[in-house]
Amino acid sequence: MILDIHAHLYHPSWYPAAVTQSIARDYARRLRSLGRHVSASSTETLISRLLTDGTGKATLTIMDKVGIEKRIILVLDWGLELGEAEKSIWEIHREILGICTSFRDRLVGFAGVDPRRSDALALLKWTFDDLGARGLKLHPTSRWRLDDQETHRVVEVAANRHLPVLVHVGRTLDCLSDANAQPQALIALAKAFPGVTFIAGHSGFEAWSTFASNPEVPRNLYFDISGWQELFFRNAAGMKAALSSLLKIFPGRVCFGSDSPFCSYNLIVSEASWLKTIVDFEREEFGETSASTLLCNPVFTELLS
Ligand SMILES: [Zn+2]
Repeated sequence: MILDIHAHLYHPSWYPAAVTQSIARDYARRLRSLGRHVSASSTETLISRLLTDGTGKATLTIMDKVGIEKRIILVLDWGLELGEAEKSIWEIHREILGICTSFRDRLVGFAGVDPRRSDALALLKWTFDDLGARGLKLHPTSRWRLDDQETHRVVEVAANRHLPVLVHVGRTLDCLSDANAQPQALIALAKAFPGVTFIAGHSGFEAWSTFASNPEVPRNLYFDISGWQELFFRNAAGMKAALSSLLKIFPGRVCFGSDSPFCSYNLIVSEASWLKTIVDFEREEFGETSASTLLCNPVFTELLS
């Protein structure tokens, strides 16, 4: 079984307009690096069309085609920082977690909330107890911190239900900041809640080495390699060496992730090639009779069941 521990669903009404614009700018940058020029407005329309999957059906088709059995779908909440999306954060949770429920054997939803929201605790309890969310996603890329009292209160709600918490670490969209999303902050949070299983989103990208060189990383902290597609494109050998080091330092604690659709734009060829990269890597690293937990970690299949 292959478990993708870090993915999303996109519909324009679920995200602030600034997010779609930022993703479009990033896409245009990529095209320019390939020598192709496009206007900002046409890129935005194209991006929105490629990413949109308001029912989960496109995602399920991709998963079937590439061979991903389960995907964790993370809700993102940037409304306070970037301007609210067309739908309220309550409606967004109802719709995204509703899709996860309708494909409950394939999609597992995690709630996502900005801890500064006055109704953050009520929202979270509702998503866990009524909508079936199986974990919490924190994206500390706005003006709040992982050591804020409000953040600890939000984590407590997940902790009381023995649910995992996935925290974005490292660089992010150009309209947000990574100042509060650094490895040290997550290490401190994981130490403050030793009973909670934490996942460092993207393993911090290039900041993975900060985790790797820190002897204080607690046992309850895991890592995902979603978004590492870009590291692979830039330097395939370097990315594999980094992953190999991470696996040696944290055996059994590094997990496959895609960050779909934001890295793949829902293109089957991109989705398939990223998974193949990791399947091939695992075979090279561990041999045919693999005991690796990279592609499916029993810690999470158990936590999510
Ligand atoms: Zn993500």
